[in-house]
Amino acid sequence: ELISQIAAGEVVERPASVVRELLDNALDAGATQITVRLMAGGVRLISVEDDGMGIAPEQMPTALKRHATSKIADLRELEAVGTMGFRGEALAAVASISELSLLSRTAGDAQAHLLDARTGELRAAARSLGTTVEVKELFFSVPARRKFLKSDNTELAHCLEAVRRHALTRPEVGFAVWHEGKVVAQWRGQTGEHALDRRLADVLGEDFLSNSLAVDHRSASQNGPLSGVRVYGRVGLPDFARARADQQFAYVNGRVVRDKVITHAARAAYEDVLHGHRQPVYALYVEIDPARVDVNVHPTKIEVRFRDSREVHQAVRHAVE
Ligand code: ADP
Ligand code: MG
Repeated sequence: ELISQIAAGEVVERPASVVRELLDNALDAGATQITVRLMAGGVRLISVEDDGMGIAPEQMPTALKRHATSKIADLRELEAVGTMGFRGEALAAVASISELSLLSRTAGDAQAHLLDARTGELRAAARSLGTTVEVKELFFSVPARRKFLKSDNTELAHCLEAVRRHALTRPEVGFAVWHEGKVVAQWRGQTGEHALDRRLADVLGEDFLSNSLAVDHRSASQNGPLSGVRVYGRVGLPDFARARADQQFAYVNGRVVRDKVITHAARAAYEDVLHGHRQPVYALYVEIDPARVDVNVHPTKIEVRFRDSREVHQAVRHAVE
């Protein structure tokens, strides 16, 4: 229990961290529609409901165990991991510092099952295909961490930001966010040629679309067929730059990342056209052979390490320039 609570300190900083992990799981399960429900900025309640593949009842207790993942089986798979999750830590960590329950049903089950993480009780319940993870009273057992939380509105803003970041990487998935029983964000799943543009407009506003340019750049492969980096997305016009760096979205193979190489390269591309403190806006999607990027760098999986960061830097800079 103590080991899990210590690990939770790394994985869960605030409600938004939980939202991020649960969204990762829903996307990994192949969800097409995800509904997030929050109370008190996520501190009282975070519920993430998906229509993904579900968890079989006999697997549900396992899903809550530390280091239990269904996503990779050996180190070789880790090196080419395509799922958001792979560490098997999130649910165990969150369960150790909250009241967590899993409600799930797979296509093969005649009914759904509900697992209460605190009591371990597993019983039949009603639900269609998919999973709902409910997290109540976050940090109730960790008052020290609770003291670091900001107002409900600030925590809600962070939660929304987490959903926004995920929504921009998966336009085909529909998202809805509720707070205190009211819809606060809703984006329909998009398909077809302009799916990404429409999602960008839905999430960031039509303004973003009309004040940005589409980019698509592929670096020449120098070291055989496995090298080469593709960078696509949209970058804002210099005039559309902002005072804060709050509209800079970067993804590596669909994964939400905060990466210094990408940020620096994008910034460098604007060097001659942006004044000192202005922040460009962009949504940049980097595609690279998974074997050339290490995603197992940090418990939150938000940092990555490139085998050849110079090539990535150049590709991003080129694309944006
Ligand atoms: P990881 O995502 O790294 O595997 P987690 O602790 O987040 O670890 O989840 C543990 C396991 O629980 C996952 O590997 C998956 O099998 C299962 N799981 C969690 N959330 C869902 C979900 N929404 N739908 C289906 N399976 C899930
Ligand atoms: Mg996970």
